[in-house]
Amino acid sequence: MPQEPSHQPATRAITSGRAHSGRSLAPALWSSSVWESESMVDARKRATGVRSNEFYSRYSNPTVRSFEDAMAELEGAESSLAFASGMGAIASVILALCSQGDHIVAQRNLYSATLAFLQGPCARFGIDVTFVDGTEPGAFAAAVQPGRTVMVLAETPSNPKLALVDLDEIGGLRGPFTVVDSTFATPLGQQPLAHGVHLSLHSATKGIAGHNDATLGVVSGEKDLLDAIWGYSVLHGATPSPHDALNALRGIRTMAVRTTHQAASAQFLTESLQLHPGVSAVHYPGLQSHPQHDLAKWQMRHFGTVFAIELAGGLAAVEQVLSRVKLLHVATSLGGPETLVCHPCTTTHASLTPQEAAEQGVTPGLLRISVGLEDPTDVLADLHQALAD
Ligand SMILES: *Cc1c(COP(=O)(O)O)cnc(C)c1O
Repeated sequence: MPQEPSHQPATRAITSGRAHSGRSLAPALWSSSVWESESMVDARKRATGVRSNEFYSRYSNPTVRSFEDAMAELEGAESSLAFASGMGAIASVILALCSQGDHIVAQRNLYSATLAFLQGPCARFGIDVTFVDGTEPGAFAAAVQPGRTVMVLAETPSNPKLALVDLDEIGGLRGPFTVVDSTFATPLGQQPLAHGVHLSLHSATKGIAGHNDATLGVVSGEKDLLDAIWGYSVLHGATPSPHDALNALRGIRTMAVRTTHQAASAQFLTESLQLHPGVSAVHYPGLQSHPQHDLAKWQMRHFGTVFAIELAGGLAAVEQVLSRVKLLHVATSLGGPETLVCHPCTTTHASLTPQEAAEQGVTPGLLRISVGLEDPTDVLADLHQALAD
């Protein structure tokens, strides 16, 4: 179906990704790993083509393609490419575009596995990384070494305290490939490509699939760049499962109502928790008190589904809350139907050195909350009883 350019994002989430499902309104599941060719000429064409459909699933798969088409529509991209996980996408993009001796500028406050990939395998392969404070204006540009810096890597909002990076600033950099991990915003929350960023990347495991039933990553941008990354990804093999792509495509259909509800609940919860004596700080881009609230209003359509709180009572208060919550689940992911609470210091950020943790503001009293689809008054009541003296 041709897309109406005037359609709003929530409508595009419904109309997109339908080319490989025939007349079925639900996405068709193509579980096949291989297709037969009509002739030797046809087989050769499929084997040597770029992203050949109906050849071999590591090259392309119609169900995965449907998910990729929908993502390209939502990101305003020429093309999208899916991976077996968010880390599959991040590792493949870095290894597709960077070589020994190259230089990357990345923000310090990154998803912990991304940070570990840059500090471990990248260092081992001779790819040099400079870490900067992504919230400091001009920090990325100042660290770029002309002719040597091949990639600038940012994440916004970032984990776990929802700090932002100015997308116009990243998109305005000339020379290196610019990559933004936009997972915490979802494709409906912000559009890095519209700011001039080359590649927008998501862990679709989170708010895109949205039901804690798929592990998937996706990157979007110009077709030529995506085709080049595909050339590497076929060798790397972090290929997505069509079952996961199907679940993620189903997730996209309801993403607008889910994220609208979750962002509104996050706003309600954070505004209320700000007044609680047991909570010494609340981090959410939708709050006036967020140091980058104006930037959030400028570059985000909604302020996201995750927030963080600092408990006045430190680690002892954290232990009390985690042992007392009944409705909230103690778990680390985000973007699903259930409200989750996690303690970054001992889970997602446990691999950081004490100095790194201090630099990133990951204190013992910090809790990260992923807002689910429950009625927010029930979530608040559960937090209140967990926080009570
Ligand atoms: C979860 C996450 C990732 C990694 O994605 P996986 O699907 O778990 O591999 C990367 N970046 C951010 C911001 C994430 O939240």
